Amino acid sequence: MEKSLFLNKHNLQPFLSGIAADYAVYVPVRKGKHRFFKKYTGTTDEVVIGEVRPFEPLKAFFSRAKEIVAKGFEDTIPHATDKPFAIVGVKACDLKGFKVQDFVFKDQGFKDPFYIKNREENLIIGADCTCAIDTCYCLALGVKPYPQEDFDINLSQIEEGFVVKVGSSKGEAVVKKNASLFEEASEGQLMEKENQRARVHLEVEENIKKNNVPSQELFGGIIERNYKSEIWADEAKTCVECGACNTICPTCHCFLLFDQRDEKQMARFRIWDSCMIKEFARVAGGANPRPKLWMRLRNRFEKKFDFFPKVSNVYACTGCGRCITACPAKIDIRKVLRRLVNNA
Ligand code: SF4
Ligand code: SF4
Repeated sequence: MEKSLFLNKHNLQPFLSGIAADYAVYVPVRKGKHRFFKKYTGTTDEVVIGEVRPFEPLKAFFSRAKEIVAKGFEDTIPHATDKPFAIVGVKACDLKGFKVQDFVFKDQGFKDPFYIKNREENLIIGADCTCAIDTCYCLALGVKPYPQEDFDINLSQIEEGFVVKVGSSKGEAVVKKNASLFEEASEGQLMEKENQRARVHLEVEENIKKNNVPSQELFGGIIERNYKSEIWADEAKTCVECGACNTICPTCHCFLLFDQRDEKQMARFRIWDSCMIKEFARVAGGANPRPKLWMRLRNRFEKKFDFFPKVSNVYACTGCGRCITACPAKIDIRKVLRRLVNNA
């Protein structure tokens, strides 16, 4: 059986400080009800490794919200020169987002040099969820509340510290470099980890039941069957077209390119875009294939629950629940999915 390691909670600070020699380390900290990523400053007082996913999505570390992709008339790629990131406390619902982001930026015909560089260089330290919040429904999308793949190192928080799993050669190198901080995990510690995973699993199951969230096994054909349904217009009634549901989502990836002069020269910028905004699909001459808000809402669901399963065999939703919290119009993806499933 593969050996698991244990990191005592008193060794978290030297571990993170050791990593900070090679990476710009970002850690989750709690502010009020939410958790946010913050640059590690050498102290672990505010760091929250367990609990649930932070407010902002992981994608922000891989495709920046705004970046320069070409400068002047140079033919070199203007990569950022900062240290690569080590992102700590990444949850399974964000890691699942890689299935979509990798498909778009890395694994198909188009190879995005910025995304690929970040994927290759950044270090991901995952973490089990140690509780669930009301909006969590990862299990309905087949995502467990603990990372199973796509991490370099994973930390399962228990009473005295963390059970550690290494997931890549990059993670192996980091653990080796800090070997004196780790010991072999005991049977009791492994059992504590499993018991906690089972408890959180149950919490998410209860959430799903309480909120009547349909499971992905029922999603087949829901968009096609409801294409002309009144549901879209009804759900879009309160939408204010802010685009928060897209920007907060770990799987949404659409972007806009534009040219602008910076202090000295012309530069081409890339910023995140939102398919909920009217101008998103407008073409030269002013024609717009999705002029109505309900059409754009339908398109958002179509992309997530029809297009992506068809082209890459994955639903472009991880059940993270962020869009539920972020939407000022209180449009709840779980309720829309339930209506679509029931209306079939
Ligand atoms: S659609 Fe909503 S719940 Fe699904 S991954 Fe995106 S933000 Fe999370
Ligand atoms: S977050 Fe809500 S209000 Fe904003 S665009 Fe999305 S659905 Fe509309």
